[in-house]
Amino acid sequence: MTIAERLCAPHVLQLTPYQSARRIGGTGNLFINANESSAPLIDSEAIHLYPGDSVERMTQQYANYAGVHVEQCLAGRGADEAIELVIRTFCVAGQDSIAQFTPTYGMYSVSALTHNVEVQNLDFYRLLHGDINEIDQLTQAPKVVFVCNPNNPTGELINRSTLIKLIEKLSDKAIVVVDEAYGDFVADQSLADVVNRYSNLVVLRTLSKAFALAGARIGFALADTSIIELLAKVIAPYPIAEPVARLGIEALSSDGINLMANNVQQISANRKRLSLALTQNHDVTEVFEAQGNYVLARFKNAAYVFEQLSNQGIIARDQSKQPGLANCLRFTVGSSEQIDRLIDVLNRL
Ligand SMILES: *Cc1c(COP(=O)(O)O)cnc(C)c1O
Repeated sequence: MTIAERLCAPHVLQLTPYQSARRIGGTGNLFINANESSAPLIDSEAIHLYPGDSVERMTQQYANYAGVHVEQCLAGRGADEAIELVIRTFCVAGQDSIAQFTPTYGMYSVSALTHNVEVQNLDFYRLLHGDINEIDQLTQAPKVVFVCNPNNPTGELINRSTLIKLIEKLSDKAIVVVDEAYGDFVADQSLADVVNRYSNLVVLRTLSKAFALAGARIGFALADTSIIELLAKVIAPYPIAEPVARLGIEALSSDGINLMANNVQQISANRKRLSLALTQNHDVTEVFEAQGNYVLARFKNAAYVFEQLSNQGIIARDQSKQPGLANCLRFTVGSSEQIDRLIDVLNRL
């Protein structure tokens, strides 16, 4: 039994993935096996058919980009769907738990709680400083451990070596999900290259951030095939719509990847400018190390700053309710003009 099968929720292990017509496949020239329309009614090629080849092509392109085999890559509706899939695959409602390192991204706990799975909190900063042993103090062994890297909303990046130690420590105990939604901003730090080596690792990626495709809802889970096969039992039959797969194919062409890389450079330069301006601002008490497309800063009075910005039509993200993040606001880094405008308003507070 693989570690994935051993940790899997028993009722999921028994499942067979939904046998969609696309999954069953077959060679022929008259496909009358999926109750599709024989022709589109609007002028869009193949839109009358359930999605298939395009999704495969997009997944192959992403696998190439991430440096994994296509069998180690599952496409879904954003990284958010993958978070939910992992929880539904491995956790039994009312019985199992997940762990997360707070402050962090909110969807791990939202997804867990909606499936009646308990959430145990660990300290993100202990992990950031290389301490992987806090997990030993949990009352119940978690089935799945979520790490967001770079961490949202703080922006900091955990060392690859710390994460690998954590994955090895839990190698026969838990699935470790490393959420790399901002991984394209720190490409050489990704753990995608070790999904081969660790059969308890899931790396989450998305086209929503550096690829600027949030509206298309495309994300990927990268993992050993023993995990991908279980996730495939739980995922909906046609998660990626045909027009969406076509957008993904375009975004993942070599031109698309070059555009993304330029975008990352622009955003990184603007982010450094914003971080510097915040560091020099009298109302700011702390600027967090930023590695994604956002900067988190602590203010003397975040509510006041939030309101002043809001009066100027600028809406930041208030993070002050998160553990340890009192008086913190998060700013997404956009175009040079947007950052100029933000800095200007912050300087005139
Ligand atoms: C934005 C974000 C996601 C969700 O990504 P989608 O692909 O748009 O669902 C997941 N994790 C983190 C940390 C994010 O910031």
